[in-house]
Amino acid sequence: MPGTGVVSLDAELCWGFHDQVTMPADRTAAPRASWRYLIALFEKHDIPVTWAVVGHPCLDGCDGTHTNHPCEEAWFSRDPRGVVTGASRWFAPRLITSIRDSAVDHEIGLHAFSHVEFGAETTTQAIADAELQQGVKAAGRLDITPSSFVFPRNNVGHRDLLSDHGFTCYRGPQPDQLSERYCSCRVLTAYGRYSAYTDV
Ligand SMILES: [Zn+2]
Repeated sequence: MPGTGVVSLDAELCWGFHDQVTMPADRTAAPRASWRYLIALFEKHDIPVTWAVVGHPCLDGCDGTHTNHPCEEAWFSRDPRGVVTGASRWFAPRLITSIRDSAVDHEIGLHAFSHVEFGAETTTQAIADAELQQGVKAAGRLDITPSSFVFPRNNVGHRDLLSDHGFTCYRGPQPDQLSERYCSCRVLTAYGRYSAYTDV
């Protein structure tokens, strides 16, 4: 029996680092080129993977106000505002639709709207709910309906909100080492209010 593997990617451009004092130059220098390289590589080898996209890059642009988001204004201080360009590392709707339109049948999941860590003490239920709601809405602009969720930095929290926003599974924390007993994906049961999680 052939083995089966799951590949999931955090597709976040600069949003994966915007809360850090210094964003790592080596990981934010050429995200668009890396993205296109991976699209071509997976097509070459016909490998479907799960791309967990941050919601904000689905937008064509942004005025930076985020009035309906409960995070403090400072959270979006690195948001460049303006409209998407071919070089933008913050807006990338065409990169995201390139996943959707690839010859390979990739899955597109969500990686929150602005990469808030759900398990952080400062992340209230209202913030987590907004990250899910606005992320799903942003993806919907591109006719994408994500059903898998990847917690930013794998920091799990507010799991009880996932099914309200249409998610059926999430990627669990990274193991210290690979193990046959380890399972990175748990399926939310379709019945009850998040009453049980089932390993798959
Ligand atoms: Zn914005």
